[in-house]
Amino acid sequence: MYRNFISGFAFALSLTAAAAGPTNIETRVEEVLRQLTLEEKVALCVGGGTSELKGVPRLNLPDLVCVDGPRGPHTGTAFPVGVALAATWNPPLIKEAAAVMGEETRAAGATMLLGPGINILRDPRDGRFFEYYTEDPWLNSELTVAFVEGVQSRNVAVCLKHFACNNREENRNFYMSMVSRRALNEIYYPAFKAGVERGPAWAVMTAANGVNGEFVSDSKEMLQETLKGRWGFDGIVITDWLGTRSTEKAALAGLDVSMPYSAGSGFGKPLLAAVQAGTIPETVVDEKARRVLRIMGRVGLLDGVPPKTGGVKSTDAHIALSRRVAEESLVLLKNKGAVLPLDAAKLKRILVVGPNANQRFCLVGLGGSSWQESRYEITPLQGVKRFVGTNVEVQFITADELGGFDLVPESALAEQDGHRGFHAKYFEKGGAQPVTERVEPQLNFLWEMHSPDPGKIAPEKFRAEFAGKIIPPVSGTYTLRVTAGAGSAWVFVDAEGGAPLMFADTGKGVPTALCSVQMEAGRPFYVRVNYTKSTGDAACRLEWALPVDKTKRAEAFARLSAAAKAADAVLVFGGIDHSLDSEGRDRLDMHLPELQQAIIHTVAAANPKTIVTLINGSPLETGGWLDEVPAVLESWYGGMEAGTAIADTIFGRNNPSGKLSFTWPKKLADSPSQVLGRQTTARVDYLEDVLVGYRYYDTRGVAPQFPFGYGLSYSKFAYDGLSVSTNGGSVKVAFQVKNIGRVAGAETAQVYVRPPAGQVARPRHELKGFQKVFLQPGEARKVELELCRDAFAYFDEAKDGWVVPPGTYVVEAGSSSRDLPLSRPVAR
Ligand code: BGC
Repeated sequence: MYRNFISGFAFALSLTAAAAGPTNIETRVEEVLRQLTLEEKVALCVGGGTSELKGVPRLNLPDLVCVDGPRGPHTGTAFPVGVALAATWNPPLIKEAAAVMGEETRAAGATMLLGPGINILRDPRDGRFFEYYTEDPWLNSELTVAFVEGVQSRNVAVCLKHFACNNREENRNFYMSMVSRRALNEIYYPAFKAGVERGPAWAVMTAANGVNGEFVSDSKEMLQETLKGRWGFDGIVITDWLGTRSTEKAALAGLDVSMPYSAGSGFGKPLLAAVQAGTIPETVVDEKARRVLRIMGRVGLLDGVPPKTGGVKSTDAHIALSRRVAEESLVLLKNKGAVLPLDAAKLKRILVVGPNANQRFCLVGLGGSSWQESRYEITPLQGVKRFVGTNVEVQFITADELGGFDLVPESALAEQDGHRGFHAKYFEKGGAQPVTERVEPQLNFLWEMHSPDPGKIAPEKFRAEFAGKIIPPVSGTYTLRVTAGAGSAWVFVDAEGGAPLMFADTGKGVPTALCSVQMEAGRPFYVRVNYTKSTGDAACRLEWALPVDKTKRAEAFARLSAAAKAADAVLVFGGIDHSLDSEGRDRLDMHLPELQQAIIHTVAAANPKTIVTLINGSPLETGGWLDEVPAVLESWYGGMEAGTAIADTIFGRNNPSGKLSFTWPKKLADSPSQVLGRQTTARVDYLEDVLVGYRYYDTRGVAPQFPFGYGLSYSKFAYDGLSVSTNGGSVKVAFQVKNIGRVAGAETAQVYVRPPAGQVARPRHELKGFQKVFLQPGEARKVELELCRDAFAYFDEAKDGWVVPPGTYVVEAGSSSRDLPLSRPVAR
């Protein structure tokens, strides 16, 4: 029996999986495997519930519990999001942070962290842009390996996701990404390959979408041949949270586990039946079970090590590290006349304005599965107030005072059955009687592929009806906005089903609709929303913008302008939030909300010391206002200490050193996915091929708003003395970086390789190395890097491999893809 088997080993071994060693784990995996019945082996291949891989109860082998997501388990220390981690360009720091995430995963009683999210930043509208790292495969690979090493150093498995080409949310469980093999190998695969080969990662999650005509969980070419075959992956391949698409096909393609548990999974009873019928050899299931057991062994479950072992949450040290990551992630985009840092000692009065000034971004549900709720979160306003203390007066003007959209709040809804809210009725598809009725305080749902009432209503098809009365706080013309995900939402203002006021319908390409309605203060206004789900991720939301009396708005803006004039500096905290940067839906455009543009125009005209801090996870159009303000700081969603990091940077306690991990376009229409790519609901054609991000902008001579690798500092760095020397197959690169400014700071020196012109079209140059150096004023440091053969190669589809065409290559070094003062030729 398994129990005896454990005790036999536990005596001799320390209670850590690492101590068990690879050989031991393999021996013991085989021992356990031999004891399993076919039913038990099949059960290992399908989720045991919403978030766990099933153990073997008969042998006391516990479940392997997973937790989201890419920036640590849901509760605990909230680190900055993926795109911010990447902006640090500091793999050792990411490794440290990931080790903490691993530790906190254990504290949460789990042994697999569902991250990192490493899809390439291809389309600025991608709802998960904020979760992923970068547009560049080299940077992506370095960060991925660091993350894997960090998490797994705590005997917690990572799960690289989502393999591969998950670059859009719309129709995400069904669309096909059509990508050349060259682009897969040069752009979309490298971080997965590096994570698997160098990490080595213990788990991989398949993308929900398909690639080149095959769902990834069914793709033998991607799973069996590439991941397991070419890259030697020995861990488990699990599905994204929608289960298998097939039985035989997925089983033979190399999929190991169908997640989460679902009665309809092709890997439950159908897999058992297929083995019994002989259409799938039992050895195929043995191999899947072996892989699951192997990972259970690595995290210590075969040793009986309790998942919680060694895990502590939210210690002071963890929180301090989160703050350091937030600080290093801040990207100074503009600093004309060195207006930043502000000297707090010289200020008497600051005006703070903007919708993100006092928002919390780490809350349950925000952004999709990667939500993070920490026990506190320092908002920018709090950070600023804490920094300046009582010596400086901080005036705060809220966005509500100036107009803008918000969820119709519970406080503005009439009571029904003793609770304020909408009376909700949920129906099964075709059902006339509601299955569930309850009062919902707000209409703000992202059910995705889940059901509004799990167990009672099937997630695939349902219908919902919400009825309530708004009690208008003021009289005037309101704007209502309804948003639907994977379906339609019809809005009525008549209980009897009169003509609808408006509708959003994803099938018709209108996910959002607006309408104006007139309401009288205090007089109940009836609203009904009928939502019907089609295929995909279900969502529905109802928002309003309060009437803006033109005179009142003008008065409010006049007050804003006067306050800006009277202040010594104005801090605008704008950007977007997780209603737009979110799993499950994509953005429609890159606009900075109109209200914020109006705020910036107004304060910038009144006060030349207007500092804009953006909080967002994807690029925004800055046209029109960027020239009006002297300084812009990009601060992403920086986790629980974001506000502290921002204030420390604005007032100079921290010198910003973050750099963009993607090219920031001037406008959406400039980006290669728009110019060259094509898409429909069902299919995305990656026609830009390998010209992703700066590979496109720099090759085609398109000016970005801010280039890849760009970010300013309060200091200045000089580059000098590049030397290149060949060393067998590789090239040694050395140069000097000197801090010629007056304050200590850090610079990420970047090395690009420019290929010779040849028959095969290649990007103008590609990042092949980088190093972040921390320098005191006047200090110089030699940066040394080695470029291996692959740094000069492209993927040749005909040869099915990497080729280095002979010729003169140029090695370039500098501070961004568009600022490369040093270059030297090298023959290959
Ligand atoms: C997401 C994954 C996540 C999983 C489990 C899916 O909807 O795409 O990234 O890990 O849910 O929550």
